[in-house]
Amino acid sequence: MATVAIPANTTALLLDIEGTTTPITFVKDILFPYIRDQLEDYLSTHWEEDECKQDVHLLKKQLEEDLRQNRACPVHVLDQTVHTDEEKAIHEVMENVLWQMAADRKTTALKQFQGHMWRAAYSAGRIKGEMYQDVVPSIRSWRRHGLKVYIYSSGSVEAQKLLFGYSVEGDVLDLFDGHFDTNIGLKVEGKSYERIAERIGCPPEEITFLTDVSREAKAAEDAGMNVVVVVRPGNLELSEEERGLYTLVTSFNQLQVPGSV
Ligand SMILES: [Mg+2]
Repeated sequence: MATVAIPANTTALLLDIEGTTTPITFVKDILFPYIRDQLEDYLSTHWEEDECKQDVHLLKKQLEEDLRQNRACPVHVLDQTVHTDEEKAIHEVMENVLWQMAADRKTTALKQFQGHMWRAAYSAGRIKGEMYQDVVPSIRSWRRHGLKVYIYSSGSVEAQKLLFGYSVEGDVLDLFDGHFDTNIGLKVEGKSYERIAERIGCPPEEITFLTDVSREAKAAEDAGMNVVVVVRPGNLELSEEERGLYTLVTSFNQLQVPGSV
């Protein structure tokens, strides 16, 4: 396995999650199906709790807005097994959540509700955040060499902290000096990486960004960062041209940090 030297002036590593630290399938095959499968159970259990009431309120507001804009159809509860008003209300919320998910909506109402369902699942041990085996030992070694390590993912900072706080290797949040999500900007825009460098407090040239997506790699490079593209099983195949443009690794083990032998 060929080693790749991280530039000697690197002071911080910035890591993507999906396809880089974590299999892409984790989100697609574990997190989203969990919502679909446990939705009714979760709503019935937490229906009377303030947080759940607020989530439902926000979802209803979103639905009203969608109806005004003709983006959604009125909800029809066709389920004949539903008897009480509460059951009916729960089924209405379910129908709306499932519809939003099928349409791949990214509304605040949906994301907040999903976040609360996942938090309950993680803290009860029903879901554990997945990471490739080379991730934790490599990051520990980078930190021993004085490098700072940050996360930048489209998933919210809250979701990132759940994944690493309740991971297959336990709580590993101490691996990271900070977290960024799309509140700082989109991952395909150079400006986002400039802002991250500013927040970290060093020039972009001192940061090495690891990602599986070439458009993100390009944006980070445009901002002046050093970039390494990570190739993991199940990632989107890179084109011949993309493979030629970037330094590629299949494991964090391959990265040789400044000052190490
Ligand atoms: Mg990714």
